Amino acid sequence: MFMTAADYRDSLRQYSPRVYCEGELVESVADEARFMPGIDAVGVTYDYALEADYHPLMVAEQHTTGKDVNRMLHICRTPQDLINKLEAVRLMCREVGCAQRYLTHDALNAIFQATYRMDEDKGTDYHQRFLNYLHKVQDEDLTLGVAMTDGKGDRSLRPHKQINVDSYVHVKERREDGIVLRGAKAIITGAPYMHEYLVMPCRNMIEADKDFAICCAVPIDADGITIVSRPAGRPGEADAKFSAKYGQTTGVAIFDDVFVPWDRVFMDGEWEHSQFLISTYATHHRHSCIGARAGFGDLLIGAGVLMSETNGLSVEDTPHLRDGMVDLIKIVEGFYACGVAASVYGFADPAGSFQPDGVFANVGKLMLATQIYDMHRIAHEVSGGLIVALPGPDEDHNPETAGDLAAMLQTRPDIPHQRRADVARLMEDLTASKAGTWMSVISLHGGGSPAAMKREIYRYYPIEERKELVEKLLDRGVVAEDGKRVSKQPGRCCPVGCQVPETPQLDYQPDDTPKLGKLDPAAE
Ligand SMILES: Cc1cc2nc3c(=O)[nH]c(=O)nc-3n(C[C@H](O)[C@H](O)[C@H](O)COP(=O)(O)OP(=O)(O)OC[C@H]3O[C@@H](n4cnc5c(N)ncnc54)[C@H](O)[C@@H]3O)c2cc1C
Repeated sequence: MFMTAADYRDSLRQYSPRVYCEGELVESVADEARFMPGIDAVGVTYDYALEADYHPLMVAEQHTTGKDVNRMLHICRTPQDLINKLEAVRLMCREVGCAQRYLTHDALNAIFQATYRMDEDKGTDYHQRFLNYLHKVQDEDLTLGVAMTDGKGDRSLRPHKQINVDSYVHVKERREDGIVLRGAKAIITGAPYMHEYLVMPCRNMIEADKDFAICCAVPIDADGITIVSRPAGRPGEADAKFSAKYGQTTGVAIFDDVFVPWDRVFMDGEWEHSQFLISTYATHHRHSCIGARAGFGDLLIGAGVLMSETNGLSVEDTPHLRDGMVDLIKIVEGFYACGVAASVYGFADPAGSFQPDGVFANVGKLMLATQIYDMHRIAHEVSGGLIVALPGPDEDHNPETAGDLAAMLQTRPDIPHQRRADVARLMEDLTASKAGTWMSVISLHGGGSPAAMKREIYRYYPIEERKELVEKLLDRGVVAEDGKRVSKQPGRCCPVGCQVPETPQLDYQPDDTPKLGKLDPAAE
């Protein structure tokens, strides 16, 4: 089943979560104006899947069922899948800023891999449980929030050492029919308007943290969950040219003794696999973040050119403005290229899925995390100060000032003042409003702080191979002791003897040999 955006919004009425926003209890999430920009942004992920032109990017066949599913719910099998997902995310985010639902994709792919790995290692049956759940999510076309980041308490202490054990979500009780969860997940994108949450550990664990190594699925209106959220974007603000229409919220989810039946539990105490789950999720997610921020970059590039033009300047004929735009393009396409490389150089997981390359995914995310500030700076540089200094929209209708403002602030005779004001307000919204600075912080911290990416880059990077490369060079005398370059082995300039490394092929065919020997197909 594929829902439309309208169906998705209506489907939220089947849930009755306990949600607070700005100190008030929300009666109906589907009708709450403060969440509408977020609901509409997720809605685009539904409507685009129904558009014929976007079908190749937005729809994919799930290999375990043969059914077509939304790309945001699909398990990637090939480099082409990764590229299509990357492009799909960019396509949606250039329309809505942040489409949010790609987090669902990233978590589903990571849990697919981690459950298979745990079963192999421990003889558990998590993978089949997860497949049953995955197929339900795909059949019902759901959107799942990622409840990974815990409250975390004192950052210098492990979960089991925290003074308040509830600063991390943990298993309070194990019963015959399931587990009982308690604690806080601190940052969940789209928290009030998801259908369910995927609860995952947020750090690697040691044995003493066993009760915190938990992965499961819970409906957002499960008994005992309270969501404390904030408005999505800037709903109702007249000068919010972008974020009154599309936005994103986050919420804290308080788990106050929430029961989860076993068929929804995908990890319970397997602390040794916590790091694999986190790292795999982070790689998929950082790959998606690259597509998302490239979409935002497309918006900035367009707004920068329009702002210059409404100022009366041609970007093409004004060298420093053209340079500014090229710098912006270089940043956006630079990190996007890392996303493409991560897809092409990805690798097949034993579970039968395909994962982006860890170095390229993390380098791309690290680039956008820090260069988002340069993106904003360049946009400000080419735009001028009007973007924050223009009188507010109420002044547009003030009979005492509106006429003079329109006449005296006009630039080119063929561009009405109102048009320039609209572009300036859009640029302010994207870069200098609270929605704009939100975009900086989500770029910097969403998917992990820069320190986490640097750790991953170092972990994935073949440092030893680079060291051996140099050792081989020294041994064969290419670098002589006196510093002169003397090759004693003509024709052998690299460890593989001048062979051109194989180019990864995009027509990679997944191995369809059934590997899931333990699984019972009848259960699907
Ligand atoms: C807009 C937005 C949306 C998000 N959406 C989601 C979501 O949907 N789901 C989800 O699970 N998470 C989400 N996140 C959370 C995101 O993954 C975290 O913000 C990120 O992992 C950083 O964690 P933190 O915010 O708790 O910062 P902190 O952990 O407090 O980090 C602050 C600084 O302290 C450093 N630090 C932290 N701990 C240590 C330590 N032990 N030793 C040394 N240095 C340390 C960090 O490197 C960083 O520099 C979102 C974040 C944002 C901003």
